[in-house]
Amino acid sequence: MSKQQRTAIEPTREQNYAEWYQQVIKAADLAENSEVRGCMVIKPWGYAIWENIQKVLDGMFRETGHRNAYFPIFIPKSYFEKEAEHVEGFAKECAVVTHSRLEPDGKGGLVAAGELSEPYIVRPTSETIIGASFAKWVNSYRDLPLLINQWANIVRWEMRTRLFLRTTEFLWQEGHTVHENYEDAMLETKKMLNVYADFAQNYLAIPVIQGEKTEGEKFPGAVNTYCIEAMMQDKKALQSGTSHFLGQNFAKSSGIKFQNREGESEFAWTTSWGVSTRLIGALIMAHSDDNGLVLPPKIAPSHLVIIPIFRSEEERTEVMKLAEEIQAELKNCYFEDIRIYTELDDRDLTSSERNWYWIKKGIPLRIEIGPRDVASGTVMLARRDKEPRDKVPVPVTELKTAIVSTLSGIQASIYQKALSFRDENIVRIDDHQEFYKFYTPKNANQPEIHGGFAFSPWCGSVACEEKIKTDLKVTVRCIPFENQLEDGKCVCCGQDSKLRVIFAKSY
Ligand SMILES: [Zn+2]
Repeated sequence: MSKQQRTAIEPTREQNYAEWYQQVIKAADLAENSEVRGCMVIKPWGYAIWENIQKVLDGMFRETGHRNAYFPIFIPKSYFEKEAEHVEGFAKECAVVTHSRLEPDGKGGLVAAGELSEPYIVRPTSETIIGASFAKWVNSYRDLPLLINQWANIVRWEMRTRLFLRTTEFLWQEGHTVHENYEDAMLETKKMLNVYADFAQNYLAIPVIQGEKTEGEKFPGAVNTYCIEAMMQDKKALQSGTSHFLGQNFAKSSGIKFQNREGESEFAWTTSWGVSTRLIGALIMAHSDDNGLVLPPKIAPSHLVIIPIFRSEEERTEVMKLAEEIQAELKNCYFEDIRIYTELDDRDLTSSERNWYWIKKGIPLRIEIGPRDVASGTVMLARRDKEPRDKVPVPVTELKTAIVSTLSGIQASIYQKALSFRDENIVRIDDHQEFYKFYTPKNANQPEIHGGFAFSPWCGSVACEEKIKTDLKVTVRCIPFENQLEDGKCVCCGQDSKLRVIFAKSY
């Protein structure tokens, strides 16, 4: 590799994908590991991405009739125990609060004291604590549907953590709703899955497959779990959002009863659904390249950086004048429904250093302004989704229009690129041997490299699901809503199969 071709991120995706991911986060200054094991510090550029995700999703929840509320971070152990499957699913990753204060230990340190009569669980999800409130709020069919969302932090004691993808504490939203009957609750579950798919595709520029989880992969305590699954650039799947139909399970354990239209008391039907800071991990892995982060403009914290270039004080004056004029013109300017934010980087660094700084952060557009540009009335515009050296001249008078249309263009082209990549790597496989070959590493040094998503027949048995998981570390990601009904032979056991499902390695 010649010197000119060196990339900003080392190793490259090809050399070591997992390490590349960490280096992209570091180079973009999104987040870092904290001193607290498994917990991350989200830095301003990373947090701004989360705030944009929140802003858009919150608008979508509001549009679909939901309202935000907030519930306690602590859940009494007894609440948790009421739903057997639920407690079993989360028991191994709970942080438990057992004491209420600290006392001197007599050796200059402190010791926990004031043991609680009942321990509290730091919420790993809030069905049970929210259910306790809902039981009080819901009395009659007139109180339904009850459509609530909470933005909160969550704790799940993970043994192996990775920034954004799996952390002990993370940020998320959890929707919790109560309905009169099966149909309404099921409708809500699927409606919110659609909201997630819409958001992933139209804002994060990540194509997703919608489907249902198998019995073994569903949320503990749910009747059905639906999900959106995305393909990352290493061809692994990332579950990017889930929506659960809880039936009457949690209504029974929390006592959510209502008087129906016939005047009889019955248990309500509930749903829950959530997405988390994991979506930032998905963004990074779906779009970024060997020069760092690539952000879809609709979710980028900032859209354009102006890099003034000058050698003398005289040049500085004229270049900065134009730079500030351009920045002022772009104030209160929108592309589609997104407000454009700009940066003016006049730090005492070379133009190359400033360019690379912003390339690694994934800012969608860069313009350089030098004395010659001031004279010609033209600036050079560069797109993050193109090669760093690709720049096009744009007359200053047409700049605003060019920026607005280029941002939409980048959004569309990033999505198309991710879509083509995914579609090229979903393969219909009907043969057992071919299936195993598809997931067998070709190179021992790169055990993670494999074929992608297999769209294959599965007989529906847990035994086959388990065998494939043990042999290949491959799981059924979902039973997709589209094209799943098809007669075939299970790729594991060869028995008759009525379903075609998405298999993949996953995060
Ligand atoms: Zn089978």
